[in-house]
Amino acid sequence: MRSSINTVSGTITPEQLGRTLMHEHVFVEYGGPSSETLRPGPRRSAIVSICTGYIEQIRGFGVKTLVDPTTIDLGRNAPLMAEIAAKTGFNIICATGIYSSATYVMIRERLGGSPDAVAGLFIKELSEGIGDTGVKAGIIKVVTGYPVIGKEEHELLLAAAKASVATGAPIITHTEGILGDEQQRILTGAGVPAQRIIIGHSCLSRDFDYHMRIVRGGSYLGFDRFGMTGMPDEVRAAALLKLLDAGRASHLMVSHDSVWYWVDGPRIGTGAYKNWVPTNFFERVIPMLLYGGATDEHIQTMLCDNPRRFFAGEQPEPMKENRGDTH
Ligand SMILES: [Zn+2]
Repeated sequence: MRSSINTVSGTITPEQLGRTLMHEHVFVEYGGPSSETLRPGPRRSAIVSICTGYIEQIRGFGVKTLVDPTTIDLGRNAPLMAEIAAKTGFNIICATGIYSSATYVMIRERLGGSPDAVAGLFIKELSEGIGDTGVKAGIIKVVTGYPVIGKEEHELLLAAAKASVATGAPIITHTEGILGDEQQRILTGAGVPAQRIIIGHSCLSRDFDYHMRIVRGGSYLGFDRFGMTGMPDEVRAAALLKLLDAGRASHLMVSHDSVWYWVDGPRIGTGAYKNWVPTNFFERVIPMLLYGGATDEHIQTMLCDNPRRFFAGEQPEPMKENRGDTH
């Protein structure tokens, strides 16, 4: 079992992760990062300063690690992440992967037309590094949309599975709150152990049965959009509490999917995006969960134990205080 984890500044062990936010973005730029954000200069210094500020804030809540699943086509900026990690001493785990089907087809064709070549690119980024940066990805990100998994999306899932099996790297997905069970079926069918998969954005669904299908399949649920517009946190918290009540804390990952510097995108912490900040879980959501019956142990399990088990490839453990899953 793989026991060392690639961060943007070298490898760590699962025990070194500590409290981990499993899905945040330091930087997003559609199409790819512009050259002035890739190289040192005033623009990059400004971005580094903003991101360093957020890291200091979450560090105040005991967080030691963040996973940034920004894909190749969403502006993944390895030099920027490496600079932020070096400045702060914080663990940042970055991803390989592709967001849109259009980019997938473009990259596949550029690499000669075969999905295996895309898997090869993922494997290269996980084992040798991203481009010539020397920064290695530590996780694979895959995406499916709505209302069905398309042909290219299916191909991309299989390429990700191949890279995961070859390298031992885990997988984090994007869903629209549906089809997570199908993602799980496709990925595990291609040889990825279920406990190496986080079905992302599961908090977009309030369907307990859908959540439990994924949990029983052995994967993790990403409740990873706390603070985002479109749904009050109270609704996400209620769905999460239902799972805690069913003794499933060991299958839950929490995060915000916040974007700290988004070129041409919204500015978090302002207006409608007021709560979409990486401290929101600690400031607003934990009190909601505790009021709803969650325990400090649940919180620690979701923030610390589950990320460690996930990266170590261990099976999620049923909670000791499991009140009985009758479903
Ligand atoms: Zn995201």
